[in-house]
Amino acid sequence: MTEPISIGSLKPILNAQPGALQTPIFQVLQVRKLTSVSNGVERYRIVLSDSIHYVQSMLASQKNELVVSGKLQKGAIVQLIQFSVNMMKERKIIIIINLNILEQYGILPKIGAPASLEPSSSTADKEESRKQEIPVINQTSFYGNKPLGPTFHEEKEKMNHISSVSSTTIYPIESLSPYQNKWTIKARVTNKTEIKHWHNQKGEGKLFSCIFMDESGEIRATAFNDQVDMLYDALQEGQVYFVSKCRVNIAKKQFSNVQNEYELTFERDTEVERCPDQSAVPHVKFNFVSLKDLDSVGKDSIIDVIGILNDIHEIVEITSKTTQKLYSKRDIFLVDNSNYSVRLTLWGKHAQDFNIPQETIVAFKGLKVTDFNGRSLSMLSGAMIIANPQIEEAYLLKKWYDKQGKEETFMTHQPTITTIRKEERKTIAQIKDEQLGMTEQPDYFSVKATIVFFKQENIFYPACPIEGCNKKAIEDNEGRWRCERCDKSFLKPQYRYIVTISVNDHTGQIWLNCFDDIGRQIIGKSADDIAQMKEENEQAALNIFHEANCKSYVFRVRAKQDSYNGAIRVRYQVMGVSPINWAHECKLLADIINSY
Ligand SMILES: [Zn+2]
Repeated sequence: MTEPISIGSLKPILNAQPGALQTPIFQVLQVRKLTSVSNGVERYRIVLSDSIHYVQSMLASQKNELVVSGKLQKGAIVQLIQFSVNMMKERKIIIIINLNILEQYGILPKIGAPASLEPSSSTADKEESRKQEIPVINQTSFYGNKPLGPTFHEEKEKMNHISSVSSTTIYPIESLSPYQNKWTIKARVTNKTEIKHWHNQKGEGKLFSCIFMDESGEIRATAFNDQVDMLYDALQEGQVYFVSKCRVNIAKKQFSNVQNEYELTFERDTEVERCPDQSAVPHVKFNFVSLKDLDSVGKDSIIDVIGILNDIHEIVEITSKTTQKLYSKRDIFLVDNSNYSVRLTLWGKHAQDFNIPQETIVAFKGLKVTDFNGRSLSMLSGAMIIANPQIEEAYLLKKWYDKQGKEETFMTHQPTITTIRKEERKTIAQIKDEQLGMTEQPDYFSVKATIVFFKQENIFYPACPIEGCNKKAIEDNEGRWRCERCDKSFLKPQYRYIVTISVNDHTGQIWLNCFDDIGRQIIGKSADDIAQMKEENEQAALNIFHEANCKSYVFRVRAKQDSYNGAIRVRYQVMGVSPINWAHECKLLADIINSY
């Protein structure tokens, strides 16, 4: 296979000569992780070869995954899709913003005998002299890990004079970093602050900031003093601008909730120009949280959510207890493909004006997370509703809903769940509070509890000894036992337990019913043995119960309605019993403790 490398293309690219290729193909000669880490983001240095020359390049951090996954490695053939040439410490390097790995060529041995494009000896001398001046920078790496401060200014001054092959390309906000300075973004102002003034020992000044947004992300930009005068009126919220020549700093995240490692500072030569085409840039940037993940989001967090309108309640008028004012609220229920359903409360005008039909896909920006009834959402006055947003998440959700979502049963973050999965662990208080077993369908759960009392009356009955019958046998006149169902008589019945026990946990007391197999496990002897013992030595039998008492178990229970003498009550039937696995119980307890 012929290698497709753009032979000899590096020199015209680095010197910005006419005819320089826009999407050149190179071989990767080296991939190296840089020792310095900038703000927690790892950076990779890559040596690119056109088979005649090689140069250093830097991979934009959003492409790091290609290295981590092993796709981008020494010997690979790559095509640059978007890049720029920057000056770094007096040498030109390529910043790779986007690239394709031409996997069809595989990993090849070094092609040709490429030589460095830089004049090596003089560079080394200069590097040496720079080390004397600015030791901090050169101790780390060739581009340093201190992009801020006077050193950066100094480099920026130099870089401004270097022309770039892609100077007219619009860069995505996501690709901006302090390691390149030739960029223009096309972005919408989604938020602009008032002008703030400050006074301190160092002097006084003013500033404002705004948030720029495009398809790739958001970035905050701040103007100080002269730039405030220059740009405050020029930048209008909601409008789209071309912005270039700003300083890129590490973001001070404590002042902003914008998801970006960097932020911009407007400078003297910053260029801002209103874009004639206002439509191509999205209006709102969402940062969706899955409904399932709401319980890992802190109470009072402000989040974005996308979901399907599953239920819409009527509007309710409520009088505020504190202000005595009447206000309206409306609950709507959202579901998403995490199979969770969440209540969202709309207030005032949002509640009154709500007219989006059920089953519509709706995106919300700026919802508050509350801990009402587990986890709920509340719509703030500044929040936004967008029905059927033209975004990929909405498309995926619609596809899921049409295919399977309609038929799903959804889980909720509410602590009181009416349909309970089999054997969910409950406390006795929960069993009562949640009225388990009070509906048509039986409920199943497990409970960890301690036996405190065995009811002695009717603790067993004489049963038909034929296997699987269990019917009560009747003693006839001749002292024999007879089963009506099997139509047979026997010399002896087989005694079977119908044990009723009182159990307790830290939340309360409850009566449980146990059939023969469970009775045998918790008493430790068969009903026949107990029956015989009772006849021979009543006290011995009582001792057996005394020993079986005060033991703890995990009971699997079915709660079911039962009519008894015309009254409806709930019977708790033990379906299974197991001794307590203390290691497992400790883990459950640790999980509960950790949730506080
Ligand atoms: Zn029988």
